[in-house]
Amino acid sequence: MVPEKFIDRLEDVVGSNDLIHSSRVTEVYSTDASPFSGKAVAVVRPESDDEVSEILKLANSHSIPVVPRGAGSGTSGGAVPKNAVVLDMKKMDEIKVFDEDMIVFSEAGAILNDIKKSLSEYGLFIPPEPGSLKIATAGGFVANNGSGKRGLKYGSIRNFIAGINAVLPDGKIIKIPYRTHRSPGIAHQIFVGSEGTLGVITGIYFRAIPIPESKKTYLIPLKSAEEMKDMLMNVLRTLPDAVEYMDSKSSLALGLDERDHIAVEIFGEDRNAEKVISALGGVALEGRGEAQFWERRETLGAEIAKRGTRVYAADDFAVPFSKIADFIKMVRDVERIGKSEIFIYGHLDTCNFHPAIVSESFDEAMKAAVLIAKKAIKMDTTVGEHGLALRWEFARGLELYRRMKYCLDQRNILNPGKFGV
Ligand SMILES: Cc1cc2nc3c(=O)[nH]c(=O)nc-3n(C[C@H](O)[C@H](O)[C@H](O)COP(=O)(O)OP(=O)(O)OC[C@H]3O[C@@H](n4cnc5c(N)ncnc54)[C@H](O)[C@@H]3O)c2cc1C
Repeated sequence: MVPEKFIDRLEDVVGSNDLIHSSRVTEVYSTDASPFSGKAVAVVRPESDDEVSEILKLANSHSIPVVPRGAGSGTSGGAVPKNAVVLDMKKMDEIKVFDEDMIVFSEAGAILNDIKKSLSEYGLFIPPEPGSLKIATAGGFVANNGSGKRGLKYGSIRNFIAGINAVLPDGKIIKIPYRTHRSPGIAHQIFVGSEGTLGVITGIYFRAIPIPESKKTYLIPLKSAEEMKDMLMNVLRTLPDAVEYMDSKSSLALGLDERDHIAVEIFGEDRNAEKVISALGGVALEGRGEAQFWERRETLGAEIAKRGTRVYAADDFAVPFSKIADFIKMVRDVERIGKSEIFIYGHLDTCNFHPAIVSESFDEAMKAAVLIAKKAIKMDTTVGEHGLALRWEFARGLELYRRMKYCLDQRNILNPGKFGV
């Protein structure tokens, strides 16, 4: 139980409108887009770094756990509270573009698509884009070190962070406001991918780059998963901007024919890439068809979810390039022996697959998810873009994390239960 006195003090900080502890609302905050749920004891909605700081000072002095939350679109359970106060960051949503510097400052609760729109007014964009662009917040995306399409050429969101503002578990406000495309040290980087365990991110200075003058998307149909590795290497040698994979079921869900497909996005005119892709049977998507394809690709997860109980197996798998065919065969074998249907799609340029398991029974879907995760770990895979990878024990370097956690959060109040502490 949380002491009444603590709740009263929280109300003093954020006001009664931004403190919620009615069970109807806290229930909504007790889960995220993962299959897991916990219990939120209260929800607070801060509006400034100072309010975040006061909340954390209070929680720290009462040793009460706090879980930062963006949109709750994470699929690894990162924002699931276990008898914790949820810090809903969505009210902190200011966006400011420094167009001449090609930098955008965004508060943690701003939605990624709003940042994209603000930047596009100046002909700028940030290449890593998740399928959850229209719902995910900047803070949640950064805390997960999310990525999405365009990973090979541009990397994950980590590569686009110039500076960060954060609040440490004891309430200390840290500002690292670099507005440059190169920034020294690692201070601002320790919060990236830490799933809200080391500090609450309140603002991010993102690097942006110019929107290319033109771009083209090609679809290449595949005969089999076995031929994918060689074909992929030919495509990657042209240094494409994005390469996505859709198995036959995902292709059908996207309105394509029932074959596996690869989508290749190329910025600008690239004759050599066009030659290579058309020799592989690739066809350019024309006119409105291109935008339509990417819009549908963005909502593919939601489309699949309509077909039953959907569980993302281990969120996503970053697979060694040499094991593409083995990984896909393994997932198909799991599908064959179980009672679930599995859609495989993902960001092929980084060999990052999302097996979306659909079943009428949650238990059946979870059974398949666990089996895939167990088999995948033996193939040297890991989690690619969904936080720390602790859910399925794919994480490495835990001793170092534990020490960092202890240095910054001795009372273990911030998103506890990770790193085995
Ligand atoms: C349909 C769909 C498609 C997706 N596609 C992709 C994809 O292509 N690529 C990809 O990378 N991900 C993808 N994701 C998952 C992805 O993890 C999230 O969408 C996004 O990164 C999380 O943003 P959020 O605001 O919802 O964070 P939440 O889910 O609320 O939180 C995620 C984690 O970050 C922490 N956190 C949140 N805000 C803060 C903060 N301000 N400070 C510190 N910690 C914080 C939370 O405690 C939690 O651990 C997808 C999810 C869905 C539902």
